[in-house]
Amino acid sequence: SAPDSQLCVVCLSNPRELVLLECGHICLCADCAEQLPRPRKCPVCRQTITRIIPTFIS
Ligand SMILES: [Zn+2]
Ligand SMILES: [Zn+2]
Repeated sequence: SAPDSQLCVVCLSNPRELVLLECGHICLCADCAEQLPRPRKCPVCRQTITRIIPTFIS
């Protein structure tokens, strides 16, 4: 299994899959990003999320 540092900070079970912009944090899985209340804010720094792009951490 993935080390804790690579797990989604919300569900703590899925790998981190997304880059949040503009803050640049990689902290969420796709499922949790989908379920964030609008307007979406980064769960780490609370900055408003303007874009979400996929990342690929092996
Ligand atoms: Zn998650
Ligand atoms: Zn952030």
